[in-house]
Amino acid sequence: MIYKRSSALFSEAEKVIPGGVNSPVRAFKGVGGTPIFVKEAKGAYLFDEDGNRLIDYINSWGPMILGHAHKPVVDAVVEKAQKGTSFGMPTEIETKIAELAVSMVPNIDKIRFVNSGTEACMSAVRLARGFTGKDKIIKFAGCYHGHSDSFLIQAGSGASTFGTPNSPGVTQGTAKDTLLANYNDIDNVKAIIEANKDEIACIIIEPVAGNMGCIPPKDGFLQALRTVCDANNILLIFDEVMTGFRLAKGGAQELFGIKADIVCFGKVIGGGLPVGAFAARNEIMDYLAPVGPVYQAGTLSGNPLAMAAGLAMLNELNTKSHIFDSINEKTEYLHKGIAKVLSDNNIVHTINRVGSMISVHFDEGEVYDFTTAAKGNNDTFKNFFHGLLNEGVYIAPSAFETWFITEALTYQDLDFTINAINKVAKTL
Ligand code: PMP
Repeated sequence: MIYKRSSALFSEAEKVIPGGVNSPVRAFKGVGGTPIFVKEAKGAYLFDEDGNRLIDYINSWGPMILGHAHKPVVDAVVEKAQKGTSFGMPTEIETKIAELAVSMVPNIDKIRFVNSGTEACMSAVRLARGFTGKDKIIKFAGCYHGHSDSFLIQAGSGASTFGTPNSPGVTQGTAKDTLLANYNDIDNVKAIIEANKDEIACIIIEPVAGNMGCIPPKDGFLQALRTVCDANNILLIFDEVMTGFRLAKGGAQELFGIKADIVCFGKVIGGGLPVGAFAARNEIMDYLAPVGPVYQAGTLSGNPLAMAAGLAMLNELNTKSHIFDSINEKTEYLHKGIAKVLSDNNIVHTINRVGSMISVHFDEGEVYDFTTAAKGNNDTFKNFFHGLLNEGVYIAPSAFETWFITEALTYQDLDFTINAINKVAKTL
């Protein structure tokens, strides 16, 4: 495929935007080459500035679970935009989406809307600290909770792709309050708690990790975290920015039957507009300003366009609940298809999948934490990525990312993809 115009646009962008991108994961730094510039997108397809059509397995890193330019979402935004785009005053639609989210997600009474997943996680941790009166937090190596200072300690996603899991600019004072545990290792968590008795406010976790590829929680791991949190007066925060409204209506809490104390959302909840949210039971949420002492605010929070998109998206998922089964079946079909063609071509691999989140690792053996995820063969991944791009299939330009399957994909698209992988596998 030809990417002449994308390359030219990237050169222009580099002059005025650091690295030519507004979020590092969009750069092709991990795989080489220049990023593709998108002109428009519809359903399961991206159309780039050179006129190429690509089947999209990133889907804006998760939000476009029903495909790009999904009509009910677009209509809701267009209608709202004509009535004013921001007021900084309460609007009815904020209550409507809050009511719907609270009805879909288990174990939450109230929800506060913000503008990104980063803000949601950052605010959730502040709330946990305020509520418990303790300072330290536990996060897991390879998990990503946005770019707030406390989380840039062994962070996954772009931070790992570019070799900067611990960012300069985060003070030692902040870093010392973030304790790092190994994903899926409950004994490690218990040892950290023991060594920091009565100092830990919360454990924050991606209940299915999606920022070091897709890493499922081992059987009993999330339950063991719940138990250890209860025993030590620690709040359990589920960062459901990826899993929320994707793995089930009620996200990972519903799928695994585990109650979190605070839940963070992003991506799907905004229908593709900038939205994040955090939610909990009344006792915790009433600790937030203006009712309680923990401060958190936002000029554009609850923005009418964002709320319209989010409400339309959640309405679709709430009323058409077969969607969750349908995307899971599509992802399983893809999983089996990829496994077959990679095996047929003798390519060493492991595929991880939970629901409609899936990742391909070029290594043998179980991939269950950051260390095992980082062992994958990056050269093979690079060739795989560029080979697929050439065939018109777009996956994330990093081995540390998950593919997000959209309901807009047809079985023909999936067969096309599996065929493309078969062709590429012969070249690896
Ligand atoms: N948490 C998780 C699990 C994420 O995957 C991300 C983003 N990929 C974030 C938080 C941060 O969200 P945002 O990029 O909207 O700030």
